[in-house]
Amino acid sequence: VPELPEVETTRRGLAPLLVGRTFRSVEIRDGRLREPVPTALPALLADRRLGALERRAKYLLFRYAHGTLLLHLGMSGSLRLAPRGEPLRRHDHLRFTLVGSRELRFHDPRRFGLCVWLTGDPLLDARLARLGPEPLGDEFDGDSLRAALRGRKAAVKVLLMDPAVVVGVGNIYASEALFRAGIRPARAGGSLRTAETERLVAAVREVLLAALRAGGTTLRDYVDGGGEAGAFRVRLRVYGRAGEACTVCAAPIRCRVLGQRSTFWCPTCQG
Ligand SMILES: [Zn+2]
Repeated sequence: VPELPEVETTRRGLAPLLVGRTFRSVEIRDGRLREPVPTALPALLADRRLGALERRAKYLLFRYAHGTLLLHLGMSGSLRLAPRGEPLRRHDHLRFTLVGSRELRFHDPRRFGLCVWLTGDPLLDARLARLGPEPLGDEFDGDSLRAALRGRKAAVKVLLMDPAVVVGVGNIYASEALFRAGIRPARAGGSLRTAETERLVAAVREVLLAALRAGGTTLRDYVDGGGEAGAFRVRLRVYGRAGEACTVCAAPIRCRVLGQRSTFWCPTCQG
């Protein structure tokens, strides 16, 4: 599943190549995604200049003067620039042809991706309006996290993955951030002390920034080459390491299912 660092890496890779430019043509090869791709899309984008390529949570916003193309990679989607004339792959559902020799292709075997057109302020769209703060933005800090967790009895890890609390913290990053913050994943969210919420905010940023750096080093390959979305090679300290020795204290890493997701932690470091 493409996580926030992969989506942001895609955005950073594509923005310099697409912003200010125009798609010469748009082809909907198969519009059966999470919602049908609007058949008017080719006409809507014809001869229009892309003003900006932004991201909110895991949504990409292609902003035009007359509206916004909202795109989500879903479970298995990816965007890549392919040389024009390169044979289409199965599941290349959308093609956006640039003036010049390349085209942008949206590839999505499982079809949980989304590509819709919005008019008006896209941040007021129901899909975006209720989202919590960006984890790398200024609005996510100890105070805002404490307020979001106050009185909550659910496990802090489950809450950390709730987009109403903070967006873009997936399962792997939630386990890794809680390890770095020294907080046991099953603790009730409302039980965290001030110093712990501060540490958790710092740890969330740390793991996401590490993933972004790992993605950044392979950015060119990511956009021009395979373009396959997948977890970047971040050094994982607990995730997927059940039974192995903790890198800090050598205690065996534990694993349990919490909120239907595999959760990994060190019983000593996360007392
Ligand atoms: Zn440990």
